[in-house]
Amino acid sequence: MTDDIDTAPEANEKKKSEFRHPEKRNRPDTPILRKPEWIRVKAPVSPEYHETKTLVQSLKLKTVCEEAACPNIGECWKQKHATFMILGATCTRACSFCNVATGIPDKLDPFEAARVAIGVQKLGLKHVVITSVDRDDLEDGGAEQFVKVISEIRRLSPGTSIEILTPDFKDKNNAIEPIVIARPDVFNHNLETVPRLYPTIRPGARYFTSLELLNRVKKIDPSIFTKSGLMVGLGETKQEVMQVMDDLRAADVDFLTIGQYLQPTPKHAAVDRFVTPEEFKSYETIARGKGFLMVAATPLTRSSYHADSDFEKMRSAREAKLASAGK
Ligand code: SF4
Repeated sequence: MTDDIDTAPEANEKKKSEFRHPEKRNRPDTPILRKPEWIRVKAPVSPEYHETKTLVQSLKLKTVCEEAACPNIGECWKQKHATFMILGATCTRACSFCNVATGIPDKLDPFEAARVAIGVQKLGLKHVVITSVDRDDLEDGGAEQFVKVISEIRRLSPGTSIEILTPDFKDKNNAIEPIVIARPDVFNHNLETVPRLYPTIRPGARYFTSLELLNRVKKIDPSIFTKSGLMVGLGETKQEVMQVMDDLRAADVDFLTIGQYLQPTPKHAAVDRFVTPEEFKSYETIARGKGFLMVAATPLTRSSYHADSDFEKMRSAREAKLASAGK
């Protein structure tokens, strides 16, 4: 089909290869698996998609939709749902799954928060997701910029719910509290994969640091929803995924997302296998059984995919749970 979007790794490589960190390179002999039908998506052609793109460009905003080459961009931007990426477009980490450029990070932009807030207002977002690159070079890991963005969005769009998807703030002891005090509605931090695969997939991160971040957020303010996500198809076993679910529930995490890993360029980690829609359904059933308030598990699930409607479902699930507990 000619109107399918090209999510093949080679398509992204052309524009990104000059930034690629050597640690991100895949073994040259690794075969590239052919994508199954359930992964294919429509090319972004709608007028609303182009309106979103024009607005993003005119405000000089960065989106993870573009930087991560997300396959859902046609669908999300048609509904004007863009996920903004703050703290520049260059990351200080070199995760082998991620398409965001690695290198010397950008200087902090003092007007970034205002431009993001204007973008949210102009797109008329009821719910917005804000994420960032890792900024290990900054003393607070970029926490203050998250606080400014939350505050500016609240000022211009007081009715908009705010979801943040943050880095792990490893070794930044002063980062988490100020963000929690700024009261985002949802605090999301992705575990990304099972602990055994961290040395190859997330070499700069530590599994228990990420878990502890989620735990701390909940302990500081139990009213904030916490959320985390996993990519599957990287070589993990079902047993390992279920252990991660247990670890997240032990940290009182409310919402779990699980999606298929897609290799952005041939230099990134290879897809080990394509998990079937039936297996995703099984993961969803298991996760719900473990007590998550909300679970999204489909091949194309991403942290911010359907984040607005899923936020409403999660809120309703919490209200129902509290009502049934007589609170
Ligand atoms: S799923 Fe998230 S990152 Fe992907 S296009 Fe939609 S909003 Fe953007």
